[in-house]
Amino acid sequence: MNKLLFFLLICFAATSCVTTSKTTSTAQEVITKIVKDTVYVAEKRKKPKNIILMIGDGMGLTQISAGMYMNNNQLALEKFPVIGLHKCHADNDLITDSAAAATSFASGIKTYNGAIGVDRNKKPVVTILELAEEKGLATGLVATSTIVHATPASFIAHQPQRKMYEEIAADFLTTEVDLFIGGGKKYFDRRVDSRNLLDEFTAKGYQINTFLGKSLEELEMPTANFGYLTADSDPIPVARGRDYLPYASTFSCKFLDKRSPKGFFLMIEGSQIDWGGHANDSDYIITEMLDFNESIENVLEYAKKDGNTLVVITADHETGGYAIQKGSKMGEIKGAFTSDYHTGDLIPVFAYGPGAEAFAGIYENTAIFDKIKEAFGF
Ligand SMILES: [Zn+2]
Repeated sequence: MNKLLFFLLICFAATSCVTTSKTTSTAQEVITKIVKDTVYVAEKRKKPKNIILMIGDGMGLTQISAGMYMNNNQLALEKFPVIGLHKCHADNDLITDSAAAATSFASGIKTYNGAIGVDRNKKPVVTILELAEEKGLATGLVATSTIVHATPASFIAHQPQRKMYEEIAADFLTTEVDLFIGGGKKYFDRRVDSRNLLDEFTAKGYQINTFLGKSLEELEMPTANFGYLTADSDPIPVARGRDYLPYASTFSCKFLDKRSPKGFFLMIEGSQIDWGGHANDSDYIITEMLDFNESIENVLEYAKKDGNTLVVITADHETGGYAIQKGSKMGEIKGAFTSDYHTGDLIPVFAYGPGAEAFAGIYENTAIFDKIKEAFGF
């Protein structure tokens, strides 16, 4: 912006020089047009009203490449004009887990593996979702794991260990989150403490639906805060019939758009790309990757129509040390693995929409929070 101001000053200075020397008005018009165009570019760099962060869990460059080669050599990610890389390591380990990584995205700090919305001293840290709520924006979380799993949990809960699923579920009641869609119904209504959180949500004015009733597609657009539990425990892999993510992505954008005139923050996770990596199962990775790709396509379509939405896509880490082997062909990938856990590779970031340019370059994963916060103007 400093460069831009400098340029404008030069233009105005030039305009006044031209005026004093009484040159033809054509020169003045040309300069006026340059100034107008520059102002137009500056206006185009406006702040987004909505920000959608999409996280492909375990989605490194090989996962993206394999998905692309198995999809006629194309992915929705190719439509993103700005690309960066982030350093995914945790505070206490070069190899991060999803909890530490998502806490970095959500709150801008490095923390220990297993931490859900807490710092290295187990103290709660404010999340971008909580900040958005505080500023009057609508908020939402969507995942293809349980909704209390590490990635979505780190945006809304504060617990010292990721496996504290029932405590994490109870933390959902402490914010006014407008929407959550994911598995894990049992952590809400069959709990050790006998609380029925689904009833508590209903008492708070939420519309709660589950996989036991109508499908998401069959529902009318809710007019209250909304929760949909897609499975009792973990949702099944897409290859075995899970199909809600692409529809839920469009649904969530349209729903949140109506919830607040100030805008919204939405996090969507393609959770099971990671599980394919842990299983060293190339087909699992690819089918989940292509499901996530469809979701990206839908979100991009919404963002393009809306014009005020910034979409940021990244991963928490790579999983499996996945590589494409010789003998692979377009449409036929032979994958190999060096690990059944996460790896320490740099992770790509893709951005589209107003404010996207801030996501170019190489930075720590904590900068994702800083950049989103700045884009919102918080
Ligand atoms: Zn994992």
